[in-house]
Amino acid sequence: MAHLNGCVLKEGKAKWGWANDKGEVFSAGLVRKELQSARLTQYNGQEYKWNPWAPAKANYFVWRAQDGLIPTRTTLVRQGVQMQDTRCPACSAAMECSDHLLVSCGLANHVWTHICLWLRIPMYTSLESVAEVVNYITAAGTSERHKRLMNLVATTTLWRIWSARNDRVFNNKPIQMEAVFDEVKEITILWLSMRSKEDCRAWDLWNSPAASV
Ligand SMILES: [Zn+2]
Repeated sequence: MAHLNGCVLKEGKAKWGWANDKGEVFSAGLVRKELQSARLTQYNGQEYKWNPWAPAKANYFVWRAQDGLIPTRTTLVRQGVQMQDTRCPACSAAMECSDHLLVSCGLANHVWTHICLWLRIPMYTSLESVAEVVNYITAAGTSERHKRLMNLVATTTLWRIWSARNDRVFNNKPIQMEAVFDEVKEITILWLSMRSKEDCRAWDLWNSPAASV
């Protein structure tokens, strides 16, 4: 009501608008431009680098997962949701938080082992957080283009592990590690073909570090 009290009605056709800080009126193009300019987003005092080869939903997911803000069972309890069981739905051996579900859990560890083999990089041994794993995989790239590809694979992997977890929780579907790994490969190549100009028909050749320098 306070906002309405300050309104002055004028003659002519009424219209609704949404202006940004600069007074520019809403348009889909303007929103897209503002989202692109916000690609470097802060989390935990560090920068989150937006990957343009991954869709916005996956970028947001990884950004929030690195900050422990995805709706795992422990996050929901912290937010006041009543839950009987806060254990990891994949292994039931630990409390479910984003770092456990996506990195430390036996299932996630198995998936990352396959991913590292696929990417031809050594499997890490002592990483425990989402941010550390994303940084490790991304840093293994040998050029900016190769790093973006590695980061895309890390993003897809986190996205697929979360989807498999949701299928388990909401549809009672068993988590099958092999299926998760196959879907990571399929989705990575799909996103790459849709969102980059790279030729992904010869994936193995293109993913070779020597070829991407
Ligand atoms: Zn687990």
